[in-house]
Amino acid sequence: MNKEYVAAEECGSIGGRNPTFESYTSRETQLGSLHITRALPAKEKRLIGPWCFLDRYGPLTFAEGKPMDVAPHPHIGLQTVSWLLEGEVLHNDSLGFEALVRAGGVNVMTSGAGISHSEQTPEASSGRLNGVQLWIALPDQYRNAPASLQHIESAPVVEITGGIVHVFAGTLCGAVSPTRHYSEIVGADVQVHPGEAVRIGLTPNYEHAIVALSGDCYEDGHRLEEKILYYLGINRSEICFTSRNGGRVLLIGGPPFPETILMWWNFVARSPEEIAQARADWEQHHSRFGEVRAYMGARLEAPTLNRIARANPIS
Ligand code: MN
Repeated sequence: MNKEYVAAEECGSIGGRNPTFESYTSRETQLGSLHITRALPAKEKRLIGPWCFLDRYGPLTFAEGKPMDVAPHPHIGLQTVSWLLEGEVLHNDSLGFEALVRAGGVNVMTSGAGISHSEQTPEASSGRLNGVQLWIALPDQYRNAPASLQHIESAPVVEITGGIVHVFAGTLCGAVSPTRHYSEIVGADVQVHPGEAVRIGLTPNYEHAIVALSGDCYEDGHRLEEKILYYLGINRSEICFTSRNGGRVLLIGGPPFPETILMWWNFVARSPEEIAQARADWEQHHSRFGEVRAYMGARLEAPTLNRIARANPIS
């Protein structure tokens, strides 16, 4: 690989075959003025099924302004998933879609060969922001499928013994998310009631990871600390969470992704040449990325390929 592309992160499945419990500390970073805790890509470059990126932001409150204001930027090779616990995010894209996501709803954007979007706190907001943004790597055969946006006002919710499960991708606890994906996948927000335990059946050929979202939660007696992604491995048919005072956990998974991806800025690719081409196309306003006409203000410029000393995906 040409050394000018050294900043791109090569990520793939590590492919453990057994249940495990491994901790990966998140990185602290900024998205404009918004503080972000980035759980994926983990230092060891692990994918979790097809999930390749996980940013956690909030909880925060604000009286004025826009804590989230991400100007138009491009994506290739992925789906973005926005899931909120509190507050609102306004999405606008180059297809002309506008979608306000609120707690309990989900936005899934499929990049296809190219799309651009902006994400910002809307003018009228609750003054709260608390959520996650995830990326899903698209399998090679679907990477150039048409770009699209899917807005789900309310993801499926299922009450189970001891808690409540919101399923925003795939199937869990008998609830099926209506979001379209291109790999087998699961993504859910598991709420555990105070003093209760929840047992959730898992798909054994998936690998899974969990991140504490709020309150206190324990998995098989392990206290789940904030800002840690716990990798659970594969071949688990069940997971049990408990909580003393109540809490929420993000659960993501899927079969180990069979391809190695290359991540740079907002691009999920397979080769350095592809990243260089996408960067050049964005800089030259190539039609593959369109324009986000609804956004008032300048779009983001791509970093220079040789300036980036570390991975810096934007969202
Ligand atoms: Mn984005």
